[in-house]
Amino acid sequence: MAASNSDMWSKPYDIVIVGAGVAGCALAHALGSSQSKPLRICLLERSLAEPDRIVGELLQPGGYALLQQLGLESCVEGIDAVPVRGYAVVMDGRPVHIPYPNGRSGRSFHHGRFIQALREKAKAAKGVETIEATVSELIECPLTGRILGVRATRKAEGSVEKEAFFGNLTIVADGCFSNFRSMVMGTAGVKPETKSHFVGTILEDAHLPIDKHGTVVLVKGAGPVLLYQIGEHDTRMLVDVKAPLPADLKEHILTNIAPQLPSALHIPVQQALEKDRIRRMPNSFLPPAEQGGKHTKEGVILLGDSWNMRHPLTGGGMMCAFNDVYILREHFANVKDFSDWKEMSSLLHRWHWQRKALASTVNILSVALYDLFGADDESLDVLRIGCFKYFERGGDCINGPVSLLSGIIASPAVLFWHFFSVAFYSIWVMFTHPRAVRGPDGKTTYFTPSWDLYPLYFLKSIQVFWTACVVFLPLMWTEIRWW
Ligand SMILES: Cc1cc2nc3c(=O)[nH]c(=O)nc-3n(C[C@H](O)[C@H](O)[C@H](O)COP(=O)(O)OP(=O)(O)OC[C@H]3O[C@@H](n4cnc5c(N)ncnc54)[C@H](O)[C@@H]3O)c2cc1C
Repeated sequence: MAASNSDMWSKPYDIVIVGAGVAGCALAHALGSSQSKPLRICLLERSLAEPDRIVGELLQPGGYALLQQLGLESCVEGIDAVPVRGYAVVMDGRPVHIPYPNGRSGRSFHHGRFIQALREKAKAAKGVETIEATVSELIECPLTGRILGVRATRKAEGSVEKEAFFGNLTIVADGCFSNFRSMVMGTAGVKPETKSHFVGTILEDAHLPIDKHGTVVLVKGAGPVLLYQIGEHDTRMLVDVKAPLPADLKEHILTNIAPQLPSALHIPVQQALEKDRIRRMPNSFLPPAEQGGKHTKEGVILLGDSWNMRHPLTGGGMMCAFNDVYILREHFANVKDFSDWKEMSSLLHRWHWQRKALASTVNILSVALYDLFGADDESLDVLRIGCFKYFERGGDCINGPVSLLSGIIASPAVLFWHFFSVAFYSIWVMFTHPRAVRGPDGKTTYFTPSWDLYPLYFLKSIQVFWTACVVFLPLMWTEIRWW
């Protein structure tokens, strides 16, 4: 839509940011506090009230380190945040302890409190003007097609008029339900894929198998359940539900999920379902496509979930957003003119590839691990059992995967190594370890495969290896494609 004459009288900002969430706030703060030449930054947010959401509650150690490097570590102070020291993965009632290496820790908290703390930091940064307004349009130059800014309606009572906010560069960080994604990305864009939903509730005074550790329970016939403490008395429970969603989610959790959780959680879960309203969010996967090329809009970029999403099972979204901001801050420090799109394009190209070490590792791992943990076919089930037993071996079999998940090691190559080690180990386990089999009477018996089953297992192992390739390689491809 073209800019009207009256709009042209508005004074342009250097940068207009849409969305004061995780990425928008971190970027506004980073640019306001680091540039040698002060910038005029406009941060637009549709509601500055404390958000009440089931997302962004666990910050991995790698994300916490980035928060410190961005000068935002105080945002986890005074909000009843809890240190997280690792994970417990539970299968068939058996937990395996997966601590973060070298005593590292992350933080978990109520999302809304953390966001309010980030917003305070952004507001206090030099040159940042925070405005409560809903952005409805990107303003496009009718001659060049370039984005000149946004049009937004202030939240002030009775306000209906749209106001123009012009900027040399517009950065859209409006989250997973972005309204502007397809316009910015043009033909380079891909649609997010909904892998499943997380259904969330808060348990009161629940005891997890290992204190100050996130817990992942592998549930038979359903996706995994994630639990972590987010305050002194509060524990978040996220239940993964695949499509088609059950009509009665509470009933589904009580009947099919709760009995498979550790027994100490049965009463808190029942009480939470009676008392708390349950909420659900889609778990989307959106691989990152390079920005600044000839297929995307000039004058505008996407940041955070509006551009790149991974499965929240591994809690990596905020870490990726902070990593993106951290790298952008370095590049932006040398920009002389944010309206010089040639300069911006080459900067975006460097940013895109520089962020990959961490972002690709987290993106691929989250979806691959979800496919294994939410196993819905026989080969994936072999991989799921093998993965659990791989963790049980301890040493590098837990240090490697947890370092990748937590952002301590950022390396797709190391991820490749561990993923295929799990695949081969799963095949070994299938041949050699006793397997549980449920008889017609409902009783579980264990049997070790005998020699006469080996030809069948040989064929099965080809299928398992093929499944591992089908899970991993397309994900790898989404990260290395360069157009
Ligand atoms: C179920 C679930 C659980 C998750 N758990 C974790 C976790 O434990 N750890 C983790 O690291 N990540 C987690 N994530 C991912 C994480 O929440 C996101 O990666 C992160 O919030 C992305 O930040 P963002 O700034 O892009 O978006 P958001 O934080 O969502 O911010 C977007 C902002 O834009 C504003 N906005 C939207 N539209 C407009 C508009 N038109 N005008 C003005 N403002 C607008 C919104 O109000 C919001 O404030 C989870 C995701 C899901 C789905």
